[in-house]
Amino acid sequence: MEDVLSLNVLVLNRSYKPIKIISVKKALILLYKTVAEVIQVEDGNYANYDFHSWAEVSAYKRMYEDNPEMDWVFTPQLTINVPRVIRVLTFDKYVKYNVKLNRRNIYARDGDTCQYCGKKHQKKHLNIDHVVPKVAGGKTIWENLVVSCFKCNTKKGGRTPKEAGMVLLKQPKKPDFTPALRIHIGNKKYESWRQFLDDAYWLVSIEDEAPENE
Ligand SMILES: [Zn+2]
Repeated sequence: MEDVLSLNVLVLNRSYKPIKIISVKKALILLYKTVAEVIQVEDGNYANYDFHSWAEVSAYKRMYEDNPEMDWVFTPQLTINVPRVIRVLTFDKYVKYNVKLNRRNIYARDGDTCQYCGKKHQKKHLNIDHVVPKVAGGKTIWENLVVSCFKCNTKKGGRTPKEAGMVLLKQPKKPDFTPALRIHIGNKKYESWRQFLDDAYWLVSIEDEAPENE
């Protein structure tokens, strides 16, 4: 039998960006502490509920809308419909997350687009450029790494963009959410997650599953 408390819940930050996936158990604790609210997606719209209003809605759903895709947590006082998406309301004090600095996330942040010429390329035709070169003291941090095509990379050489007479599309920064959050929505239970996964990033994560054939 499926353990309801260990099912998945998508966590959004205050700006409705996906940051991580946690268990139902952790999600209910955040809701109960009023650190987070439930986001209910219906017909492309969504509604926000705090713990108590969600408990009321849950009682109603239990009576009138119960279906096999819904999951339930029962306590002596309450019946809670398991939420699929929650949103953190505080300044992320309770939900620590750190976006991993890796190739996948940098490519996803920059949308597979060379940050110098602005052209989108297949991943294999891109590499990661230190904006301020390592030899000039440039660090390997979000703010100093961008995706670049081979042509621009060669042109830039071991120089800063200014020295090379090149301009960055935008100043690179650390994302406040996980650009390439890998999510498999194989289960209909999690259909509502789609709403919050940006199309571009969504495609990136699917692309990685399949061989490239362009
Ligand atoms: Zn380029």
